[in-house]
Amino acid sequence: MTHQAIILGTGPAGLTAAVYLARANMEPLVIEGPEPGGQLTLTTEVENFPGFPDGVMGPELMDNMKKQAKRFGATFERGWVTDVNVDQRPFKLSVDGLGELEAQSLIISTGASAKLLGVPGEKSNIGKGVSTCATCDGFFFRGKKVVIIGGGDSAMEEANFLTKFADEVQVIHRRNELRASKIMQDRARANEKITWALNKTPVEMVSDGMKISGVKVKDSDTEEEELLETDGIFVAIGHNPNTEFLKNKLDMDEKGYLLVEPGTTNTNIPGVFACGDVQDQKYRQAVTAAGTGCMAAMDAERFIEGEATIDWSQSLS
Ligand code: NAP
Repeated sequence: MTHQAIILGTGPAGLTAAVYLARANMEPLVIEGPEPGGQLTLTTEVENFPGFPDGVMGPELMDNMKKQAKRFGATFERGWVTDVNVDQRPFKLSVDGLGELEAQSLIISTGASAKLLGVPGEKSNIGKGVSTCATCDGFFFRGKKVVIIGGGDSAMEEANFLTKFADEVQVIHRRNELRASKIMQDRARANEKITWALNKTPVEMVSDGMKISGVKVKDSDTEEEELLETDGIFVAIGHNPNTEFLKNKLDMDEKGYLLVEPGTTNTNIPGVFACGDVQDQKYRQAVTAAGTGCMAAMDAERFIEGEATIDWSQSLS
């Protein structure tokens, strides 16, 4: 069976695309990856999604979007896409657990995942004091000392957020200058609970086997090492788009974000559309992801409709 549209990813972009395509009677098949619902399922309360004056829990928002898409006829399958052939249509997808699938149009909304430093003690302590999501885990550090690693807007935003819970939030950044915008820096610098460990590169996360006790850092100039004691470590050094499986298949920038024609969701392959964080490293909001999901659905619908017109006129000649 060849699907009219397959959507990869179930964050706000993919689910919004699913609602729109389902309502357009295109019966989209939505493939849920390893993190169904995307990054919003890792957050607690979402206060800035329009329409929820009292806020809404991230997982609930995503669950509702899924229900809405299902109500109009979208179908969902769990699977891990291992290969994509976009050289010719119908496009072909190899999906672990589902076999080979075919689609006339593809919407890529696989999102982005938090980057890790790759130092010893990091991965093994995720959930034991190491986190990439201040909004999810900040609550557990009430009255404690935490560090946040990174010098960008995310690090500043999360440092401020963490001061709601922790007594001290120390920002560790590998350079003396922060990358964050001036307004975010100013806000963080004005917060008395935030302290700074600048020009320090984290080299190891230290734990007693049960929970984190410190982070070893190296001075970026003198290379001298010291141990900064802490109860929790938040890593906020950016995100990687989930596009590994699309390398050499679709145009992407040097960081792996998919390139789209400005003002559209068109990738370089006609019939393949990209929406959400997988093509956006600037806004990265649930509502902007949902907005581009809507655009992708409309682009896909018009693409398929346009083709139907061509096929019909060709069959007459
Ligand atoms: P980012 O701007 O890429 O900053 C990443 C930070 O992590 C940089 O300071 C970088 O250091 C550091 N870093 C990266 N790899 C590292 C490593 N291996 N070891 C140590 N440090 C490392 O990422 P972001 O802060 O997530 O922001 C991404 C985008 O979202 C930006 O465009 C940002 O403006 C936007 N954003 C906006 C808001 C807002 O306006 N409310 C909030 C969050 C994010 P260097 O500086 O030395 O490279």
